[in-house]
Amino acid sequence: MSLLSVVLPAFNEEAVLPKTVKVLGDILSQAGIDHELIFVDDGSRDRTWQIICDAAETDPRIHGIHFSRNFGKESAIFAGLADASGDCVAVMDCDLQHPAEVLVRMYRLWEQGFEVVEGVKRSRGKESLFHRISAGTFYRLMTKATGFDMSRASDFKLLDRKAVTAVLELPERNSFFRAQSSWIGFRTTEIEFDVREREAGTSKWSTFGLIKYAVSNIVGYSTLPMQFVTGAGLIFLVTAIVLGIQTLVHYLTGNAVEGFTTVILLLLIIGSILMISLGIIGYYISRIFQEVQGRPKYIISKRI
Ligand code: UDP
Ligand code: MG
Repeated sequence: MSLLSVVLPAFNEEAVLPKTVKVLGDILSQAGIDHELIFVDDGSRDRTWQIICDAAETDPRIHGIHFSRNFGKESAIFAGLADASGDCVAVMDCDLQHPAEVLVRMYRLWEQGFEVVEGVKRSRGKESLFHRISAGTFYRLMTKATGFDMSRASDFKLLDRKAVTAVLELPERNSFFRAQSSWIGFRTTEIEFDVREREAGTSKWSTFGLIKYAVSNIVGYSTLPMQFVTGAGLIFLVTAIVLGIQTLVHYLTGNAVEGFTTVILLLLIIGSILMISLGIIGYYISRIFQEVQGRPKYIISKRI
């Protein structure tokens, strides 16, 4: 019989974890699916690890990985994937926003021969207006950058062993699971689900965190921002020719003193464009630096 591994990243989730353990165990057992649950404690500061340990002691199918500090959800997903021994591996949030019934349907699709089953959001659940707008903008940019439709993508997925191996072999340090699982290809299908409301606890995303995440992933998948530098350069070349001719004409007709305002404006504009351009290039260089440093995505301090 084939084994399903479920990877569940958890960061300060003490409020919801006991329920997650129970709900998932019940539903998977009822469906007759042989499974293991891998909880990755992403450096929580509350009782999350304690709860995972308790659960693991009563049920041998539950595994726990504890990070030495908070490395972020992406790292937690990868640690779980690396640890999973199933013939197929599902990734889902442990706050029960990804419905467990859908997990069973994903497994059935896998049994029919699909190698990547992507959960796509039919509705985004309850979110503030600001969050909705910023998430919308982020996903539009991401869709442009990656070339895959990211607007409804989620981290709720089920991958065949072959796909898991492929994802784990991608060498980049700055990983973005959502896009990588599309990038690898394989026989893929989608399954729609409604994002549930969080059972307990609060969302772990701050606005600043989301912006950082957006910028980092756009840079990871696209060199378009660098072409902005070239574009700005071309626009300035054209302006330079026009202004140059005008200046020469003024000089030849003998009234060259005027135009101080133009000089100041040009200095200011060119100065800012230059600095923005340097910043963009600098961002890419810092990414190259991080990749070259080759630090691990995460450090595990405890296992159970
Ligand atoms: N998470 C994590 N590390 C983090 C932040 C979040 O492992 O640094 C986990 C969290 O425990 C949850 C999942 O990622 O299982 C999604 O997080 P959350 O529910 O806060 O995000 P949202 O659903 O609001 O997008
Ligand atoms: Mg959530």
